[in-house]
Formats: sequence, structure tokens, C-alpha cells
Amino acid sequence: MKIAVIGSGIGGLAAACRLASKGHDVTVFEKNATPGGKISEIKMDGYRFDTGPSLFTLPELVTELYAAANEPIPSSFAYKKLEVLCKYFYNSGERLNAWSDQQKFTDECVQKFGEDPASITKYLKSASLIYKITADIFLFNSLHKVKNLMKFSVLKSLLQVHKIRFYKTMHGANKRNFKSPLLVQLFDRYATYNGSNPYKAPATLNVIAHLENNLGAYFPDKGMYTIVQHIYELALKKGVRFNFNSLVTSIDIKNKKAVGITVGETQHAFDKIVSDSDINYVINNLMDHPKEKQIKSLEPSSSALVFYWGVTREFPELDLHNILFSSDYKTEFNNLFEAKTIDKDPTIYIFISSKVIENDAPKNCENWYVMVNAPANSTEDWDELIRVTRQNIINKINESLKTNIEDYIACEKIASPITIEQNTLSKGGALYGNSSNSKFAAFLRHPNFLKSVQNLYFVGGSVHPGGGIPLCLASAKIVANEIPAS
Ligand code: FAD
Repeated sequence: MKIAVIGSGIGGLAAACRLASKGHDVTVFEKNATPGGKISEIKMDGYRFDTGPSLFTLPELVTELYAAANEPIPSSFAYKKLEVLCKYFYNSGERLNAWSDQQKFTDECVQKFGEDPASITKYLKSASLIYKITADIFLFNSLHKVKNLMKFSVLKSLLQVHKIRFYKTMHGANKRNFKSPLLVQLFDRYATYNGSNPYKAPATLNVIAHLENNLGAYFPDKGMYTIVQHIYELALKKGVRFNFNSLVTSIDIKNKKAVGITVGETQHAFDKIVSDSDINYVINNLMDHPKEKQIKSLEPSSSALVFYWGVTREFPELDLHNILFSSDYKTEFNNLFEAKTIDKDPTIYIFISSKVIENDAPKNCENWYVMVNAPANSTEDWDELIRVTRQNIINKINESLKTNIEDYIACEKIASPITIEQNTLSKGGALYGNSSNSKFAAFLRHPNFLKSVQNLYFVGGSVHPGGGIPLCLASAKIVANEIPAS
């Protein structure tokens, strides 16, 4: 079959690899000049920055992609498990290393925060149980096919669903589990891994702690963008053709069947279409399908404001991943999702890939990716918000690290909800599609297909099972399984 893939984000690339490996004739149309979508990199003045994702979990999903393509993983794609998942800095002066080794992590929590060690063991066991119960139903199969829900393993999981506390919020469950409010905040932060609010997102999402604390966080030896480069090369090897600088302007539908796409003035006929474009963009711009207008009402996930700074000194107290927490997490999330602005005391994430990749910064320098959560764009005055937030960030870094960071910023680039939307066409620059700020979020995500239009499929972070690299890879597998081999 001739298959078109719209978009070369990680979901589109993975779907293209899988479908070409099944013997199909696959062509990718990408509006940008390079593959990767939200996973990208920039270089300036001797510094290199991964601009999007910085955290790599479930690397076995990449291994699985190579296996599906019947190709060995190249030795150039190497990654290491992190010893320190993240360094946490609190306004009150406490600092904590989240060690990947659970005993070390527990010892540090006991010693620094006076936490009961049993509460950490219990919590991480329960996160593992949530994964066991939910992975098959919510992550690795379509939720929208009756045949999947009737599988024995799924039925068995459904019988245990009461154990995953979907009726509680993440924060509610965390507050009950930990004595230390500082640890509650640490585990609440995992809601931001899919752009949600821990005070609203269901406790089921505490599963994220399982991915990071039990299974481990990883980092590719040559940076996050090498994930894209390798999957792109795999696609080329499997015969996928790429058309860059090619904006798809419509999905052509005849008699309730997708029959092709239009790029500029040219129509191209295809047997099947797989879209990796944000589902909101597809529904509103690429097709006329009134039933789907309901998706407009769903709340987007958070976006981000990121400053990429070339920093002309080293900070030994920082690691690859660092968090400078706000004092009032609840207000910060209210501002993000209700007032749709950035708190004046935002939680700051500093990611420094030169801590592990020497060449990412000149000698004795560091490449800082400084990110705060931002609301998906609606109508904010971004120039002013960026100006004020930049100053708030600088003040907080100076206070926390006892420095004057502005003296060391040699060069700067900025990504905002506006630029993220322009680059990837995701609604409001949302990082993870829709938020999970409701008990029913998993069920409200758009399915990977439409019942009313044949031959049209959806992958990527805006559809089932959700955003983030692992889930986008899972969506590609779900879609490829729906399309028989040639
Ligand atoms: P996208 O990356 O959204 O790409 C879609 C592609 O389709 C784009 O290239 C776009 O140009 C193209 N396209 C869209 N419409 C058309 C059209 N009509 N015609 C042609 N081309 C089109 N995830 C993690 O796992 N860990 C992290 O640490 C993490 N941090 C993040 C930090 C930031 C700042 C950002 C931006 C994202 C982060 N994410 C993280 C989320 C992750 O990057 C995304 O969930 C994932 O990359 C989305 O992939 P996708 O397949 O949905 O496609």
C-alpha cells in the first residue's frame, strides 16, 4: 500500500519505520526542513542545546522499534542510566539528590527530610503496581477497540482498577503517603511530565514515578537529538521517502474514505494516511468533519518558556537535571492553568547536557537550558511575560546558587508557547497534547483512528496514549498494528 505520513515528529518517524518494515511504500511530508518536531537541537557560539525533551525513559521502546524493523541497533546509539535522576533545591535552603539507587535515595530522604523509609518503599511499590495494572490497557493498546478490552490480560487488569486510586488526585495520594511536604512536592512534580496539574490530575499518574525511580532515567551519549537522527536513518534504510518543507494543507476524503493529501496546489493519492500532526490542527485545518469539533473544548497541556544560555563558567553544585522549586506549588499551578500566566516564583528546571557531553560547551563553560512551565498560548502579552519571568528566574537562580548569573550569560535564545506552536503546529504550543487534569483524561484523548473515515490514522502526543517520547512511540506501534502487512 502507498502510505503518507504527515509530520516527522517521533510518532510519525516511528510509524513510518514500522509501516515500511511491513512492506509498505511510505512517504513522509514534513513542513520543516529537518525531522524531529519538538525534539530538536540548536547550536550557537560553540554551544549545542537539545531544545525539547531532555529526559529519556523506557529506552526499550526504541530497541523494540529496531527489532520490528529487523535491524540491529547501531553502536552509535548509546545511552547511559543516570545515577542522579535530578538535584532538587528548595527555597528554604534544603537540597536533595534523587538517586536512582533506591537505598541511597531513601537514606537521603530519611537523613535530610526525616521521612519514614517505609513510606518510600510503599510508594514506589504502589507506582509499580499502577504500571502493571494500567500499561496494557492505557498505554500499549488502543482503548477504542472492543477486541482489545476483551483480552484476558486486560480483563484481569480491569478487575484490579480500584487499586490504582483514579478517584484521588496525585497530590491527594502523595500528601497521604509522605510525612515531608518537600517530598510531596517532589513527587507532585511528575504531573508536569505530561503537562498537567498535580492538584487535579488523577493519582494514576503517580505511575510516572515508576518509570523514573524504579525503571530508571537515561541519557543518550550524544544528546537527545540523536534519538531522532537514528530513527530517521532507520526510516531511510527501510526505504521511507521524505519530503521536507512540505506543509500538508488538506487530507482528501471521498465517500468517507481518506484518499490522499494536498501539498500546496498538488494532490497526492494514497491508500492510507497516518497523521502525526496535532489532532487539533488536523480537525480545524486539514479536514472538514463536524463531529470532531467537540475536541475544541478539551484543555491543552501546559507549554514551556525556555531560555538557552551559553554560560561562561562551571557550577559544580549542579548536575544534568536540576530543579529549583517554588515555595507555593498550589498557587504556581493555579496561575498556570486558571490565571493562565507564569507565577512570579516559578519552579525552574535547569538542564545542562555539557555535564555529560563535553563538546556541548566550550572548555570551563556550560550550556544551560532553563525552563519554566508556561500556559498554552491563548491571549497573553508574551513579550512582557517573558521579560518579567526572565528577571524572576535570574533573581531566583542568584539567590539559590549565590551567584550573579547575568554576568556569565554569553549568548541566549528563547523558546515560548508561540515559537513552539509555530515550529510544530501544536495547539497553543502545548507540549503534550491535552492535559490530564481530569479523572477521565485517558478516555478523552483522541483515538488513533476515526470510525467515520476509513484509511485515516493518528499518532503522536496529541492522541492516545498521550505525550512524551515513550507514549508517542507506543502510539506508532498501535497504529502500525492496525494496518496489515502488504
Ligand atoms: P511533534 O514533535 O509534535 O511533531 C509534529 C511534526 O509534524 C512537526 O515536525 C510538524 O512540523 C509536522 N507537521 C504538523 N502538521 C503538519 C502538516 N500539516 N504538514 C506537514 N508537517 C506537519 N517528552 C519527553 O518524553 N521527555 C521530556 O523531557 C520532554 N520535555 C519536553 C520539553 C519541551 C520544551 C518540549 C517542546 C517537549 C517535551 N517533551 C518531552 C514532549 C515531547 O517532545 C513530545 O511529546 C513529542 O516529541 C511529540 O512528538 P509527536 O510525534 O507528537 O510530534
